[in-house]
Amino acid sequence: MLESAPTIFALSSGRDKAGIAVVRVSGPNAGAALKTLTGALPQPRFAALAAVHGPSGDLIDRGLVLWFPAPASITGEDVAEVHVHGGPAIVSALLAALGAQPGLRPAEPGEFSRRAFHNGKLDLTQIEALADAINAETEAQRSQAIRQMEGEMGRTVDAWRTEVMGALAHIEAAIDFADEELPLNILPDAAARIEAVISPMERQLKDRHRGERLRDGVRMVLIGAPNVGKSSVLNRLARRNAAIVSPMAGTTRDVLEVHLDLAGYPVILVDTAGLRDVTEDVEAQGVRRARAQSHAADVKIALFDGSKWPSQDAETADMVDGDTLVVVNKSDLMDGGTGAPGDHLFISAKTGAGLDDLVHRLGVLAAEKAGLGGQSWLTRARHRDALVACVGHLRAFLATKDTTGVEISAEELRLGARALGRITGRVDVDDLLDIVFTDFCIGK
Ligand code: GDP
Repeated sequence: MLESAPTIFALSSGRDKAGIAVVRVSGPNAGAALKTLTGALPQPRFAALAAVHGPSGDLIDRGLVLWFPAPASITGEDVAEVHVHGGPAIVSALLAALGAQPGLRPAEPGEFSRRAFHNGKLDLTQIEALADAINAETEAQRSQAIRQMEGEMGRTVDAWRTEVMGALAHIEAAIDFADEELPLNILPDAAARIEAVISPMERQLKDRHRGERLRDGVRMVLIGAPNVGKSSVLNRLARRNAAIVSPMAGTTRDVLEVHLDLAGYPVILVDTAGLRDVTEDVEAQGVRRARAQSHAADVKIALFDGSKWPSQDAETADMVDGDTLVVVNKSDLMDGGTGAPGDHLFISAKTGAGLDDLVHRLGVLAAEKAGLGGQSWLTRARHRDALVACVGHLRAFLATKDTTGVEISAEELRLGARALGRITGRVDVDDLLDIVFTDFCIGK
């Protein structure tokens, strides 16, 4: 960050009334600002109780202050924190007092994180994880975001990039210092290194999009004929998991979504308009959307009417596939127990019978679709795109290294390294020479 970066400040805690509010200041004038507010700087990284005064000398509040001199701070700049009571008027007075000081201005959205990135405190994956952690609604989402924030993904990508850069550096050396005495097996060695690094990348790409699903939610769509009980089942499930339910816009003829927490996994449960052949316009639209929804679903829950069971609605039966859980609703209307054996679940949205079982089965399916098991970590399409691009370049290197000029195939390595750099935000590839000289001892 430039020396002349303005000093920024913002309320870092929530906007609602609260016991405590935290205001952060970052930049070259942070220390002066804190001194103006409280009269003195506390010992670095130790909380101190202080009277916080406004520009006219009035006492705004008494609170805890912290002082983090650069570079040991979250942004890498001088940072001050002021913890006051979380009342709107107190916070406003404090923000006004900061705004009145020279060189200070309110922070723009994400500006603290942006500075942390520029100063090398967090890589892009950690910044994304920070956003994910703040937005996490379920246990599995929290755990995945925290893991990513700890730098697991960044470290893996960096290690791969170092390997690619190492191979590239050796080839570059062979090109640039052709007269020097260099090992003859540079190209085969580089190829072996690249082969070795491609396999974990390809393994990662075969994660069946688990990380993205965990971040975005596993999409489960209720399908079934009109009146089979789709809305009733959705409402039942929503009420049981009321904590994070957020109904989205829609009518019974359209699509209704609720967000659920099932076994720690985020699930978006979608109710669709009844499936049947219709000519009437509005309903036909609803049916079309229902089909589109079921195609986009990770899991389909096909509902059949228990009062008609084992006769099945043909239209719904037609859509049952390997990702479908078959559920027979209105079990209370069935005569003679649960009828045909099989992998079906019998429930009653009316009496609640079988609901526990349904919740359990859906939780297991959610874990299958979004459980990361500590191995995979691609959480965004952006990561996947970059990794696909990288593997493409590395494969192109391997395919062309013996046929095209080595300069041209080496360019593929450079592009591969750059694609990896896009994941973490390290896009410069100019540290090649460092690797050459530390690894190679040319001229000795
Ligand atoms: P949808 O059109 O598939 O969304 O079906 P609804 O949820 O609107 O339900 C249609 C009708 O079936 C309503 O009158 C519900 O009260 C009734 N219903 C839903 N589930 C059950 C059930 O398990 N048992 C019984 N007896 N009636 C049910």
